[in-house]
Amino acid sequence: MELYSLTAHELIKKLGEKEISVEDLNSSVRKRIQDKDPQVKAYVRLSGSKAAVDFKTLNNGPLAGIPVSIKDNICTQGYNTECCSKILSGFKPPYDATVIQKLKNAGANILDTKTNMDEFAFGSSTENSCFGPTHNPWDLDRVPGGSSGGSAAAVAGDEAILAIGSDTGGSIRQPAAFCGVVGLKPTYGRVSRYGLIAFASSLDQIGTFTKDIEDACILMNVISGHDPMDATSVDIPVPDYLGSAGKDIKGLKIGIPKEYFVEGMDPEVKKIIFEAVAKLKDLGAIVKDISLPHTEYAVPVYYILGTAEASSNLARFDGVQYGYRAKSTNLIAMYKKTRGEGFGQEAKRRILLGTFALSHGYYDAYYLKALKVRTLIKNDFDSVFKDCDCIVTPTAPTTAFKIGEKAENPLQMYLSDIYTISANLSGLPAISVPCGFSKNRLPVGLQILAKAFDEETLFRAGSAYERATQWRKEKPKL
Ligand code: GLN
Repeated sequence: MELYSLTAHELIKKLGEKEISVEDLNSSVRKRIQDKDPQVKAYVRLSGSKAAVDFKTLNNGPLAGIPVSIKDNICTQGYNTECCSKILSGFKPPYDATVIQKLKNAGANILDTKTNMDEFAFGSSTENSCFGPTHNPWDLDRVPGGSSGGSAAAVAGDEAILAIGSDTGGSIRQPAAFCGVVGLKPTYGRVSRYGLIAFASSLDQIGTFTKDIEDACILMNVISGHDPMDATSVDIPVPDYLGSAGKDIKGLKIGIPKEYFVEGMDPEVKKIIFEAVAKLKDLGAIVKDISLPHTEYAVPVYYILGTAEASSNLARFDGVQYGYRAKSTNLIAMYKKTRGEGFGQEAKRRILLGTFALSHGYYDAYYLKALKVRTLIKNDFDSVFKDCDCIVTPTAPTTAFKIGEKAENPLQMYLSDIYTISANLSGLPAISVPCGFSKNRLPVGLQILAKAFDEETLFRAGSAYERATQWRKEKPKL
């Protein structure tokens, strides 16, 4: 078995027993990236002046020697962090994001190269990157999902052991489902967002991509916790997540929302999800039908609030402080030219939409109304969780689509987030776990949602399901 194909927990054991060295592991991962990334394109700027991946010196710690791949919107001191946007080209942050600092303290090897993403995390396919699309390792003609498609494809293609992404409306879970890996969006406030370049501040959350649940627990043990640098991070104790991974699910109450199985969803996905639910029942869970009546409003509410916040967050990119600056004769013209040349099409679309939603005269009609409906969506979850420990749904309505298939139709693209957005609007933790394959061998993901700060239930249910199935052992033929 090649080292790059193992999980972090398997590698930690081998390193601990001195069966392998950190250099063995580094060269295995490095070689895999060199061999496979020309097809997958999970990483960006690989062919710059630094032709190969460089690994740093390590500390001792729970992740000592384990390589971790980072999405291009998380600040790494002295190394390019560009959100896959021309407007941030050449930007080298003067500081590390808190998650990077925590990973370094745990001894992790942070890769200098970053994983590909939709520009500023706007998208569901990783096609909106200024570096071009990432390819799904299961079928290179298809998208890996987005916006953290590079992180998902890197883990699925064994070009990464662990990866970090961000999830504003599904950007970890949907690509995890499309690529057949485990993707976790923690509770809003559980993991510091200091150093995450903001898309929509009330929705953004940093989370993990791993080959199995145990690795997700290990990674969450390292990156979770209160951070005084992030006013939205919450000061409550972090449990040892590994404790929940081995438990059974006898008596666990699981809700299945009827609104998530509507017309438009791929019948193959539906069948696979129902098989997974039957498996959870076999394992002793109590499954019941529930209703989340405001689900149909999640997508429109998200695209009003998300674009409004994005338009405001992106106002800082004007050619003065960061990255790209267009040449011009006066200041105002420089702002305009920089933004006109620096932002891609989807970023411009969102800035326009968000500015419109926030403008005088429309604020009450759109933004304020969306905020109110957001509360109704959250209330739906609160009432269901009075009587359920978790909720199970599909992660996405379809399997991975073809590159180019939805690129010209933003509305259709927005609908691929239909099952993931509500967790962000409500701040809840949610995970996508591989649960099968379509006839054309494309992965399907099972989404599990739990109460705020109850990631443990996600790990408990996810790991019980994982132990009872073999999906995680399947690998794409690259
Ligand atoms: N696909 C969604 C969007 O385009 C979610 C993106 C994300 O979670 N960053 O906004």
